[in-house]
Amino acid sequence: MTLADFPVGSIKGVGHAFADQLQKLEIATAADLINYFPYRYENYAVRDLSTIADGEHATIVGKIQSEPLFSYYAKKRSRISVRVLSGRYLITAVLFNRPYLKRTLKLGDTVTLTGKWEQGRAVLTVTEFHNGLPTDKGEWLPVYPVKEGISVKKLRTIVRQALTQFAGQLAENLPDSLRERYRLLGREEAVREIHFPSSTQRLKQARRRLVYEEFLIYELKMQAHRLKRQKAKNGVAFAVDNVRLQAFIEALPFHLTDAQQTVLHEILEDMKQPSAMNRLLQGDVGSGKTIVAAIALFAAVTAGYQGALMAPTEILAEQHADSLEQLFSAFSIRTALLTGNVRGKKRKLLLEQLKEGAIDILIGTHALIQDEVHYRRLGLVVTDEQHRFGVVQRRLLREKGQEPDVLYMTATPIPRTLALTVFGDMDVSTISELPGGRKPIKTYWVRHDLMDRVITFIRRAVAAGRQAYVVCPLIEESEQLDVQNALDMHSQLTQALTGIQVGLMHGRLNPEEKADVMNRFKMNQVQVLVATTVVEVGVNVPNATLMIVNDADRFGLSQLHQLRGRVGRGSNQSYCVLVAEAKSETSKEKMKWMTETTDGFKLSELDLKLRGPGDFFGSKQSGLPDFKLADLVHDFQTLAAARQDAAKMVRSQSFWQEDAYHLLRAPLRAAGILDKKRLD
Ligand code: ADP
Ligand code: MG
Repeated sequence: MTLADFPVGSIKGVGHAFADQLQKLEIATAADLINYFPYRYENYAVRDLSTIADGEHATIVGKIQSEPLFSYYAKKRSRISVRVLSGRYLITAVLFNRPYLKRTLKLGDTVTLTGKWEQGRAVLTVTEFHNGLPTDKGEWLPVYPVKEGISVKKLRTIVRQALTQFAGQLAENLPDSLRERYRLLGREEAVREIHFPSSTQRLKQARRRLVYEEFLIYELKMQAHRLKRQKAKNGVAFAVDNVRLQAFIEALPFHLTDAQQTVLHEILEDMKQPSAMNRLLQGDVGSGKTIVAAIALFAAVTAGYQGALMAPTEILAEQHADSLEQLFSAFSIRTALLTGNVRGKKRKLLLEQLKEGAIDILIGTHALIQDEVHYRRLGLVVTDEQHRFGVVQRRLLREKGQEPDVLYMTATPIPRTLALTVFGDMDVSTISELPGGRKPIKTYWVRHDLMDRVITFIRRAVAAGRQAYVVCPLIEESEQLDVQNALDMHSQLTQALTGIQVGLMHGRLNPEEKADVMNRFKMNQVQVLVATTVVEVGVNVPNATLMIVNDADRFGLSQLHQLRGRVGRGSNQSYCVLVAEAKSETSKEKMKWMTETTDGFKLSELDLKLRGPGDFFGSKQSGLPDFKLADLVHDFQTLAAARQDAAKMVRSQSFWQEDAYHLLRAPLRAAGILDKKRLD
């Protein structure tokens, strides 16, 4: 029997009704309750009002000096206010939505009140109330996230009760060897301390233990997945034609950097293995990921397979199609582009050719893996930028009888922490240097009142034969945000830059219009391109040397870095001008960092610290796991250690056989990852 076998109702003091309410917090068993951790702690040491600062949360003791004044201020919302004398201070205590207290509060009673102190009005907004002198001996008490009908106080009581009732029964899930290596508290002790810390130091130790445990269990799942994939041997083992591949690499207009060669080697080694590759390729903007992907695709074709390159937008797909065609045509490799725009007869023909194997490399948007698309022999899928080529897509292809290798490219350098978690079951290749001979982009930060100078700057760049991007954050006027939109900017610049062609690109244009503007920009028929962030991802126009970002403080650091990466792609000196008021300290700091460093990995780490992991990818569907205690930013070292430990463990006999690991295997079984036959 484990604690998970005891319903929460078996805890003394938890009746049916309360057990039902606890379902709202997803607490059904004693184990759920004990693993329901506080998100902060409250100090109930009683204080003198004179030591409490305005806005501070604190506990005081006082005597009631007036009859409580009760009122409803909205439907079902009530308020009690009462005068309290605490020390030399006569204050007003306010209690919201606790109508039942109106009979409890009696003139002359001594009360203990915890709440937020508002010095100016001498009001304490009470969050916790206790009739009489304080009873809590411990200084730090847990505060749990709760829902209506469940009070923090009640939770405290039953958690305490559960810890007593089940003392000695909390199973240790980490083997001694690990606990000794990291000097980790035992599970029961850690759990007790995380709820009712006996000191801040003990709390720290408890947290360290539980964070490690949380990461380890997560990583065990990831590493077991990875091992399973590697052992499955149902992927493609490419028999690459090295002579042809070498000839292709030598025909490139440049030498691969050492970093490119290293990652290429990693990728090719993976491709030659019979297991399905699942690899992330990351590198700073302009580090030359695309050419590495192209070489991998070339290698796949020399082995008699087809390849697919998936891009997030049609513009990018078209650009990739153009550049791959240029690279491959001399080597008689047939490429084709498939997007939503390819329709009717043309589409039908293309799909037939693909099925017959008359197309070697198909480039496009996510349309590439739709139902109607059948490959003759798909061997490698490269997905560019924000695409997460997930389990679902793999299954789709497997159902068609394909288990291709997958190479996943990211546009933005991802902090190591996030790469390890979001891409936890992947292998990671990192291009750690930029091709030589590039002039670092010069970055300036100016305020809006210098826009005239910025315009002069653009004019000069164009006079020298160069081109410029002007990026605006939003497409439509939003009064609230007071963002100058792309349309306004376009007309302003069209007026100011006589004799210069100013183009406009935004998300509302249809695909043909977008392609048209982009083409004219590429051919230098348009010299200045005003755009919303659609240019962010991967556009390559080497003659553009000037990037103006309007309202730059509205962007995240990684995004700004990505935008800056659109220039600096040729041999000419490039510039990035950030136009922003940057009123807040954070904004100022952002602008400063941008002007000081061009290291994308450094900026992405800073960005992560500023915005937190949830916002880093800009959406909730980022695939980031929800850790209970662990914090991806601060606990990174622990994550890295847990990952290493997990990788070793899943490859060891003892992990799958010994009793000491029994409880660590359980979550793998529960998640359905454990395919015992294969992994043992
Ligand atoms: P990324 O996709 O990583 O942002 P790209 O692959 O688009 O970068 O490469 C940026 C530019 O650098 C391209 O114009 C590409 O042709 C060029 N490039 C790539 N590798 C090298 C290299 N080893 N030496 C010189 N130029 C390179
Ligand atoms: Mg790219």
